[in-house]
Amino acid sequence: MSFTIPPMAEPYKIKMVEPVKITTREFRENAAKEAGYNTFLLRSEDVYIDLLTDSGTNAMSEYQWAGIMLGDEAYAGSKNYYFLESAMKECFGYKHLVPAHQGRGAEHLVSKALIKQGQWVPGNMYFTTTRQHQELQGGHFVDVIVDAAHDPNNEDPFKGNVDLVKFEKLIKEKGAENIAYITIGVTVNLAGGQPVSMQNLREVGELAHKNNIKVILDATRAMENAYYIKTREKGYENKSVKEILREMCSYTDGATCSGKKDFHTNIGGFAACNDDDFAQNMRSNVVVYEGLQTYGGMAGRDMEAMARGMLEACEDHVMKHRIAQSEYLWNKLDKAGVPLVRPCGGHGVFVDAKAFYPQVPQEQYTAQALAIDIYIHSGVRSMERGIVSAGRDQETGKEHKPKLETVRLTIPRRVYTQSHFDVVADSIIDLYQQRDKGRGLKMVYEPKALRFFQARFEKL
Ligand SMILES: *Cc1c(COP(=O)(O)O)cnc(C)c1O
Repeated sequence: MSFTIPPMAEPYKIKMVEPVKITTREFRENAAKEAGYNTFLLRSEDVYIDLLTDSGTNAMSEYQWAGIMLGDEAYAGSKNYYFLESAMKECFGYKHLVPAHQGRGAEHLVSKALIKQGQWVPGNMYFTTTRQHQELQGGHFVDVIVDAAHDPNNEDPFKGNVDLVKFEKLIKEKGAENIAYITIGVTVNLAGGQPVSMQNLREVGELAHKNNIKVILDATRAMENAYYIKTREKGYENKSVKEILREMCSYTDGATCSGKKDFHTNIGGFAACNDDDFAQNMRSNVVVYEGLQTYGGMAGRDMEAMARGMLEACEDHVMKHRIAQSEYLWNKLDKAGVPLVRPCGGHGVFVDAKAFYPQVPQEQYTAQALAIDIYIHSGVRSMERGIVSAGRDQETGKEHKPKLETVRLTIPRRVYTQSHFDVVADSIIDLYQQRDKGRGLKMVYEPKALRFFQARFEKL
């Protein structure tokens, strides 16, 4: 018999370290108060283990760092752009690349190109910046995700899927010509990193194209989604992440992508598509809002790092370890009875705050309160994904009240070790044992857009 290395074991060794500060509870109580009980307003220096987000917080490889030294910082026609374009074609297969400073820059370009005032824009749950750009363009977002996505206890392996009945009903009710396009997030961030199946992508593509509706992939975490298809969907076990990714994209007309997630980089993004006119439209706007069409707001060195990170993310063992880290934390918390969104998602572990603090009503920002309590308890930073993130209805001004009220423990790629995850799990389990002490919050400052980033709170 041969020895098998467990998936959790790191497929890398550590070459450089970044020291972190160990703080006292009293220090953290003060820091939390000064930050208006919003984990986004804490200073990074005051955090021990930072699970706020996996966005731009990834550790680059030596191959990426070496690429940084090859930055061609010419204003126009940088060689790094052409390398990025070839890497994108190899991984995703789209014809045109339009670079952007990060994902939301690409969302802006796509929304501007495709949405006419008053049109409907269906999607499998929303992502905060995606929906914001659609609404700024005069579009109306409509959620067409399967019902299972809204239920933290439903164990369906593809809770990110589009509900074809909901999508078809929307086409019939509004008329295909009034639908700008459909966005498919793979995986679905706000549903807990839940994946979309290949079958669903194929069927959504067929239904949309039959009605002349474009399909735009939010490919920010597409490699993670491809890995889930490999491990959960019949017929894909022997295909590589890259082959699966190419097939996923083949059912769509274009994509927006943040370079800060699966590509192991700190900044960057792009839009991509097959249609020449669509590309032309985005290129005429990229020079106004982002930068020239061959850098889109990125330095040459950043494009090089992103291209290299993208190719690395397509290696099966890289994704295997990535998912294994999330699952390790998930399993430890689950075993101790901590209520979680099930099954474990790709980029993090989502704690079901309503079940953790049943005594705190959603109007008192249950997940926001839990996120700041986790920080005060242990120095671990997480983020709210619930009523604060959901914001207000454009027309009525009322707060959206999402069924899922979660705290996201997001796993940066290649940054933390198993012992860090042990500390995170043990401290949250300890807090869970004292859960009856949890109290809600009152919002004392509310920004107009994307309020979760800057809102301030007081303890009740
Ligand atoms: C992060 C993210 C975005 C936005 O990308 P930025 O690079 O942060 O602007 C869009 N969609 C999803 C699913 C994301 O996770």
